[in-house]
Amino acid sequence: MKVFDLHADLAIAINKHPEEKGVLKKYWHDKFKEGEVVYTSAASFFRGVESWEDMVNTVTRVKDDIDQSGAKRILSKEDLKEDETDITYIMTIEGMCGIHDNPEEKIQWLYDMGNRIGSLEWNDQNDLATGNSGDPARGLTEMGRQAIRKMNELHMIVDVSHANEKTFWDILDTSALPIIATHSNAKAKCFVERNLTDQQMRAWANKGGLIGMNACDSFIHAEKDKRDARHLAKHARYIADLVGVSHVACGFDFGAYYAEQKNYDIFSPDQTQNFIQGLYEEGFNEEEVRDIAYRNVIRFLREYM
Ligand SMILES: [Zn+2]
Repeated sequence: MKVFDLHADLAIAINKHPEEKGVLKKYWHDKFKEGEVVYTSAASFFRGVESWEDMVNTVTRVKDDIDQSGAKRILSKEDLKEDETDITYIMTIEGMCGIHDNPEEKIQWLYDMGNRIGSLEWNDQNDLATGNSGDPARGLTEMGRQAIRKMNELHMIVDVSHANEKTFWDILDTSALPIIATHSNAKAKCFVERNLTDQQMRAWANKGGLIGMNACDSFIHAEKDKRDARHLAKHARYIADLVGVSHVACGFDFGAYYAEQKNYDIFSPDQTQNFIQGLYEEGFNEEEVRDIAYRNVIRFLREYM
């Protein structure tokens, strides 16, 4: 089953080979093909300490590597084809800590470079917003509101996966367009900061939100022997029962930092079909599995991008 993965840490993967060109093709395309990941995100990741210049360099490197790898990028609705078979990237931003002034101009630059989804924060607290490790009483800043309005104007989708709760609610309030949590699960199934509460999911689903199921082991289950594709599929079941299957998608957070370990059968793109199998075992029918695998994202992006 074809898959659209909303979040992969590919800037980190590319930067592991600073002297090479076409890193994605060389090290990753075979894994994507084996796992039937046709559409994947290429996230430029910033942990909270990077400057605007660092952001420019990383985003440029990601764009260049996709081009050197001979792959397509999603830049407009016309690039979203349900019958696509070639590996296709959507560029995304994870954290905008390098923006300290002129947010509109800088977001315009990120958009012009091809980024179509972005989060204002990683776990850090920056000039725009507050991530999970920041002050719980601090949310979106005034500059952050400007950034959201600019993203709305460009139809660049806002990602809330690393937002603290206050920022989540502030963004939900501010954004004129639905928002995505590209890589988060259900807090009711696994209590970690980055997973979403039922209350958050109901509110965000009411506004048309989408959530990508995150394969990060500690976000799947508190018990180590239950951190696998099958238990990740249980998050999808839970969220579909809570707010509807049309809000569920994939956002595995593959890239360069998952380590192979016992029972962990969803740590690399070539294992993606283990999750698809888990969805069938959770009782989703063929059409619903197809929706979660890629159609929900394609529909969402066609409508809002
Ligand atoms: Zn992340």
